[in-house]
Amino acid sequence: MLIYPWKSGVVIDTGLAKIAVDTPKPVPGAVHVVTHAHADHIGAARKTAPFSTPGTHEILKVLGYSSEPLREGALRVFGDADVSFISAGHIPGSAQVVIDNGKRIVVTGDWKLEDDILEPGAEIPDDADVLILETTFGAPQYQFPPRKEVYPQIEKWAKTNLSIGNHVALLGYAVGKSQELAALLNSLGIVPVVPERTHKVNALFGLSDVLIGSDGWREYVSEPRVFVLPPNFSDILPALEVELGRKIVARSCSGWARNGFPLSSHADFWQTIEYVQRVEPKLVLTYGGNAHQMATVLRRMDYDARPLTHTVML
Ligand SMILES: [Zn+2]
Repeated sequence: MLIYPWKSGVVIDTGLAKIAVDTPKPVPGAVHVVTHAHADHIGAARKTAPFSTPGTHEILKVLGYSSEPLREGALRVFGDADVSFISAGHIPGSAQVVIDNGKRIVVTGDWKLEDDILEPGAEIPDDADVLILETTFGAPQYQFPPRKEVYPQIEKWAKTNLSIGNHVALLGYAVGKSQELAALLNSLGIVPVVPERTHKVNALFGLSDVLIGSDGWREYVSEPRVFVLPPNFSDILPALEVELGRKIVARSCSGWARNGFPLSSHADFWQTIEYVQRVEPKLVLTYGGNAHQMATVLRRMDYDARPLTHTVML
């Protein structure tokens, strides 16, 4: 069996089956799998109909792409390999990929252990021989507070600003983070104002919002409101502020946020360690940001761990 990085994705080649996970382009001769609907993972869906969970399939449809849904727990056989999904806890529909040909390989894709208001945390796979582990925040400086602390901070900040007459903008990706924020706001009795892509994805999850530009939205924003906007909208906030005649205070909601809320859809350093300890794989191959650093930490803990920077033969 060969395992190798293919641009930002991973390919597992058993000899009889070649499985390409989250590759940015189709890989010749491969069966394609997409772990979730973030733009940097769905490149293959632009040219093929990759396998995805039903949840990701629905989001991809809204985004104008196709995929072949495979529900969690169901198996598809390709050559000598079974392929199945277990939940990754990253965003709605996100999955880890389990490939079994006698050896059991788990590709985490983007993942987190912590439950959020919409999505339970990642499932712990059984009997993984090889764990191909995404390590975006796999360095000790990345330690995020739990959501039970961050959610009330967002609530307090938003309500304080609304009470003094400001609009509030929470910035997060249109797919995933925006639904978590909309669900949090809905649970507080707040209906956020959102742009079109967010509105379409929110609708899949039954979330309440007001679409920018829809009938009555101007009247709605004559009062102080909460906007949920993608990060690139921060550039147009000054113009929106002038147009709406009201100050807009904005905070980003991300693991990368310096002055915002550390609401990450990825595992932090300690979650990554905990996850590896719970899975107890025979081999860990790290990929993504901080892959070298996390592999070094895991080796010090006596795991066989290395960054997936070139072809690994098993
Ligand atoms: Zn992602």
